[in-house]
Amino acid sequence: MAELILETKGLKKYYGKQLAVNDVSLHIPKGSIYGLLGPNGAGKSTILKMLTGLLYPSGGEIIVFGEPWDRRHLKRTGALIESPALFGNLTAYENLLVHAKLIGLPKERIYEVLEIVELKDVDKKLVSHFSMGMKQRLGIAIALLGNPELLILDEPANGLDPIGIQKLRELIRSFHEKGITVILSSLILSEVSQIVDHIGIISGGELKYQDKINPTENLETLFMKVVNGVEKQ
Ligand code: ATP
Repeated sequence: MAELILETKGLKKYYGKQLAVNDVSLHIPKGSIYGLLGPNGAGKSTILKMLTGLLYPSGGEIIVFGEPWDRRHLKRTGALIESPALFGNLTAYENLLVHAKLIGLPKERIYEVLEIVELKDVDKKLVSHFSMGMKQRLGIAIALLGNPELLILDEPANGLDPIGIQKLRELIRSFHEKGITVILSSLILSEVSQIVDHIGIISGGELKYQDKINPTENLETLFMKVVNGVEKQ
């Protein structure tokens, strides 16, 4: 079996009495691009928030880098959850500088990540004047600052136009080529079907399907079958 960079065992999350995530056991192989797919309200963001320490699980285990989850592991993980928290009155460089100072990184790394997300030439513009796609790319740049081995992106294609989505796919492929494992969530299958090599399908808080997929697989048909209860894990 492939080496796992992250694994959950029976992960659960209650919001009050509502069980939003129920007994989810994810297997994320090292070096994969793993798509966490599911309809609105399925529990994707809740799972990703638990993986990044933004929410405390109600039950179950998270094993990352071969060890039980610990805040220290966040140093090796980059994340973009929901909209990136950005300072609108600062430039992209200045936003990154705030984060680089917090985690004690050299300025050179800021130029590197700006180059990766193609924001290097947008040096004077304030973030409040950025397009949605530019804000998403800056959010990804922040997630990349610490040279993560694992990158967790919650709906990264949210609000992007088809060109922005294509660029995002190329960017994610380039991370994959550098050996970074990527976990991303999405509602829209066409956005991710060409890049993911593993998928987990969440519906009603439960993991209904998890497997490797090949590029010729019709994700839409599989998804409909799984969500409608025909195909089981
Ligand atoms: P979407 O794709 O629409 O963002 P999702 O798959 O990410 O959905 P979650 O945001 O994880 O789903 O929500 C799962 C369930 O938990 C939903 O029923 C949602 O209403 C509920 N939920 C999410 N956050 C909270 C919260 N802070 N308090 C109470 N309930 C919540």
